[in-house]
Amino acid sequence: MQVIRTVAELRAWSRQAHREGKLLGLVPTMGALHAGHASLIRAAAAACHQVAVSIFVNPTQFGPHEDFSRYPRTFDADCAIAEREGAHVVFVPSVEELYPHGPISTFVEVPGLSDRLDGHSRPGHFRGVATVVSKLFIAAEPDQALFGQKDAAQVAVLRRMTADLRLATEIVVCPIVREPDGLALSSRNIYLSPTERAQALTLSRAVRRVESLFASGERRSDHLLATAREVFSSEPAVQIDYIALVDWATLEPIDEAKQGSLFAVAAYVGSTRLIDNVIFP
Ligand code: AMP
Repeated sequence: MQVIRTVAELRAWSRQAHREGKLLGLVPTMGALHAGHASLIRAAAAACHQVAVSIFVNPTQFGPHEDFSRYPRTFDADCAIAEREGAHVVFVPSVEELYPHGPISTFVEVPGLSDRLDGHSRPGHFRGVATVVSKLFIAAEPDQALFGQKDAAQVAVLRRMTADLRLATEIVVCPIVREPDGLALSSRNIYLSPTERAQALTLSRAVRRVESLFASGERRSDHLLATAREVFSSEPAVQIDYIALVDWATLEPIDEAKQGSLFAVAAYVGSTRLIDNVIFP
């Protein structure tokens, strides 16, 4: 497995692979890789001849009081996981490499969607995500880019972005990987104390309750959302950021749930913000 640090080298690798008629898969990450990331890399290796994993803690998607500086950075362990799961390249640029004129740069905006769900709670977050993913797509020109359903709103933003920019990259979405007790894997789970780790299960409990209510035939948004709120009320230490039932493509609230609708939650457990969701099957 090759470690690449510059956009020029990534572009050269991609062009060579395309000249050889190979399909390229890209898995964008912020590192601190866990089994969720591993599942994306595995899926990429199964579908593509060449796989690149990018590891970049992107400053433009963090708010001024968020955890950019303390975000876990575990490069050696990340490389071992990427290689084990079948990656051919790890792309690990510096901030200066991706933002040569500093983080006040040319941005990619996805109006409307960018202000919903996590974008509402974290102003500027999706602008940072869309910008950095555009840079990766322009440099690597992947045939497929793989993302986790865990960040379902991010997927909606990036799908709209690739459609609007007429990019050739196909966005592939992989299922949420969970701990045996239901907690969605997240690089931020390491911030949780043992007590908070137990409280964090409120998110997956709410998701499961809403999922089973939908399965039993309930479609009314107000009822589904009330049920989720009830689950959260049993754990007052967990602060709801949002609970939402939306159209997955537009992220707009809906009155009636249907197949493919997104139910999503975000909540603070102590100072750690966690998210979870279900797309109704
Ligand atoms: P991050 O490093 O948190 O930016 O995540 C990189 C990619 O991994 C994103 O597409 C995430 O949606 C995905 N991801 C994170 N956690 C999980 C999980 N528990 N299951 C599946 N994919 C995940």
